[in-house]
Amino acid sequence: MATVSNISSKLPKHETSIFSVMSKMAYEHDAVNLSQGYPNFDTDKRLKELVYEAMLDGYNQYAPLAGIALLREQIVNKIESLHGKKYDKKTEITVTNGATQALYLAITAFVNPGDEVIVLKPAYDSYEPAIKLNGGIPVLVQLEGEEYKLNFDSIKQKISSKTRMLIINTPHNPSGNVFSNAEMLQLEKLLEGTDIILLSDEVYEHITFDEAKHHSASAFPNLSKRAIICASFGKTFHNTGWKMGYCVAPEELMAEIWKVMEVNVFCVHHPTQRAFAKYLETPKHYLELGEFYQEKRDTFLNLIKDTAFKAIPSKGTYFQLLDYSEISNESDVEFSRKLIKEFGIASIPVSVFNKDQVDYRQLRFCFAKTNETLEKAAEILKKIK
Ligand code: PMP
Ligand code: GLN
Repeated sequence: MATVSNISSKLPKHETSIFSVMSKMAYEHDAVNLSQGYPNFDTDKRLKELVYEAMLDGYNQYAPLAGIALLREQIVNKIESLHGKKYDKKTEITVTNGATQALYLAITAFVNPGDEVIVLKPAYDSYEPAIKLNGGIPVLVQLEGEEYKLNFDSIKQKISSKTRMLIINTPHNPSGNVFSNAEMLQLEKLLEGTDIILLSDEVYEHITFDEAKHHSASAFPNLSKRAIICASFGKTFHNTGWKMGYCVAPEELMAEIWKVMEVNVFCVHHPTQRAFAKYLETPKHYLELGEFYQEKRDTFLNLIKDTAFKAIPSKGTYFQLLDYSEISNESDVEFSRKLIKEFGIASIPVSVFNKDQVDYRQLRFCFAKTNETLEKAAEILKKIK
């Protein structure tokens, strides 16, 4: 018997995240798991030691709400050296419990009931529930074509007097697309003269390939003045389970985010902040990440080149989309389940992220894996015809 009978769910249609579903299935079927996005290799031992050293040194009580000064300073210096924008380390940055919390804080701080938030689909699955929990209305715009390009006319058509926020994500999960400089300039133009807040999810900022470059919203003055930029140490330093990230924004916006942060968690894990502050003193720890993952992407693409799957090489992130339309006409959800159960390989069906769950017969594979795992995966993919 239910203990309380009149529960009114705030998310009545919410389904368990596809990442949990596929990782669980992969585990149950002992499948090679290229579904949920996380590395299957370890984070740097030195970084782990730094956390432990901070604990031994006594940094075991609450940190300041915005994060410790040493870490905030490292982050603002990193952004300035990469994108030329100097954030104020005292008033324009908050260290968060991963990028997911940063996104949630930003949405909660600014989205009021009835406000519209434009979400570009396919999209990371935390955005829409966070908007709905705050009474907001997600307004969905699909990225277009094989490379999931921005269509500025479609976005413009969806802007109304109720539009409070636009969420972008570059480098983009799941497509692997990276917005160009020209696209960021167009975005600047589109938002000119509006009061729309830009929520820029840049968790894969250091993972770009070939000639693609990451263009942060911080590098564009007419975007940065309205932007909340979210980042994730988990993605950059191979420790997604530590759940550490941050956001930066102009002072007036950050002041509102702090109000939510204070009642939400107050502050995040203190010794880990000490560790990252020290680790960030060596820029090569993040500057070499693109090269590291480019090798993984190239290895994966090379290993699967003789399979019946078709790929447009990912430009960024650690995901590669594979088109299976020459193999099967099954829906991507059915096909991905079949691959786990019958072939022992797990991926993510892309339709779950798309507007109206449109299905382009594509699966997302995470190549943040050891070469041994990528080789095993390729052996399996070769057998699927
Ligand atoms: N945004 C995107 C696009 C992501 O893929 C992820 C995934 N992990 C996140 C945000 C969340 O990052 P974190 O793990 O730091 O919360
Ligand atoms: N962002 C990761 C992915 O896209 C998963 C994060 C999560 O499991 N919530 O696979």
